[in-house]
Amino acid sequence: MFDSGSTLDPSDWDSLRLQSHRMLDDMLDYVSQIRERPVWQPAPDNTSQIFEAPLPSGPTSLQATHQSFMRNILPYAIGNSHPGFMGWVHGGGSVVGMLAEMLASGLNSNLGGRDQIPIQVEQQVVRWMQQLFGFPESASGLFVTGSSMANLIGLLVARTAEIGTTVRGLGLIEADKRLVAYTSVDAHSCIERAMEIGGMGGHQLRKIPVNDRHEMNLVALTKAIEGDRADGYTPFCVVGTAGTVNVGAIDDLQGIAAIAAREHLWFHVDGACGALGMISPKIRKKLLGIQEADSIALDFHKWGQVPYDAGFILVRDAKQHQDTFASPAEYLRRETRGMAAGSPWPCDFGPDLSRSFKALKVWFTMQVFGTDRLANMMERTCELAEYLAERVAESPELELLAPVSLNIVCFRFLCDDAVDQVNSDIVVAIQESGLAAPSTTKINGKLAIRAAIFNHRTSQLDIDSLIDASIRFGRLITQESKIS
Ligand SMILES: *Cc1c(COP(=O)(O)O)cnc(C)c1O
Repeated sequence: MFDSGSTLDPSDWDSLRLQSHRMLDDMLDYVSQIRERPVWQPAPDNTSQIFEAPLPSGPTSLQATHQSFMRNILPYAIGNSHPGFMGWVHGGGSVVGMLAEMLASGLNSNLGGRDQIPIQVEQQVVRWMQQLFGFPESASGLFVTGSSMANLIGLLVARTAEIGTTVRGLGLIEADKRLVAYTSVDAHSCIERAMEIGGMGGHQLRKIPVNDRHEMNLVALTKAIEGDRADGYTPFCVVGTAGTVNVGAIDDLQGIAAIAAREHLWFHVDGACGALGMISPKIRKKLLGIQEADSIALDFHKWGQVPYDAGFILVRDAKQHQDTFASPAEYLRRETRGMAAGSPWPCDFGPDLSRSFKALKVWFTMQVFGTDRLANMMERTCELAEYLAERVAESPELELLAPVSLNIVCFRFLCDDAVDQVNSDIVVAIQESGLAAPSTTKINGKLAIRAAIFNHRTSQLDIDSLIDASIRFGRLITQESKIS
């Protein structure tokens, strides 16, 4: 098919078309029949060995390469499209997003800049996000890989807002300020990493304790700010979390906004897990205060069910955002007409120059489903989490370890000895059974079985199967340890 000709296009488009349709059919079969598969299975050693082969100098047919994908790659993915997947925070994806991704790849647009409608699609999503979060029309937004990158951008803009653009040339050494930021002990580790990468230093992130609902303790926050000022530090930013990765807690964003305003701090929200809940009238009540943020990081690839990757940063003050990243270069000269028009370009708002058309799969997802439908889906995941918590409460052998505020449930199997070890063994046993896929975390020092219901395919059936498997494996593991 690709054996002759001077370009990489096929010599025979008809057979390519047939092969393409087979590949599409295989993925539609995969998604439509996913419930019949195990959530996850470890790959056999001889499969792993295939991926140690050296860089090929000669060709393999597309058909054979596709067969190798079907045999050696597809069955051994982590399984987050499966309804039984509840580990970490993963989205389930959708066929709409998959098809849009194919169209975007076919177009092969580079969204770094220039005058093209694909950038207007991204700008339309930016406007949708402005409206969703009550930001002004002058706010800026940008697609990035994920919230790790979006949070980094938020903190870098906050740094520019505090020190000015001189920090870009002179670095922090010349700034004569020791910057400190604040977040809660339950914040995602990427916030600390952003402080490291930004040169502010991971140790200059103050991790404020949480209350019994796992929300940032605002009295402790105020005290920490006062203490740092007295010690000669310059507080510059506070990061609230809208849906913590551990338990799905939402910080008191209104309270944080008030403190940030009083103390003249940048207010950034890590909304990776929960910010998109704004499209649901029920869930948005829990997110009050998010509209007051200076910047918001969020992920369409989690609760939004858009295929990986699709993170997003929204910044209230576009000028400060642009001042943090834009740089002149001869070969990126702007014009008022022709292809080099349309300034500012997306590359002026983040570290990436070449960028894929991530906006298209989000645009398709929003167009095809509409926000009402997506809101219902999100609400259903919260209802399933409540149902799971009820089932835990009804089971004398299980204990709920944290209140459920969104769609994440942490619980454990109760036993007399080595309870942490037993629960971590239960999680491994469930994962290896292929029935469901929870993960673990620690809640107040106790090892928890953690189920994060982010997948639109998850149903009550899957919750029942998780509960049954937890109890069954719990009994089995504790009996085995008594016998041995
Ligand atoms: C997932 C997550 C992140 C990291 O986002 P990525 O998209 O994985 O980079 C940050 N914060 C929270 C609360 C998250 O759930």
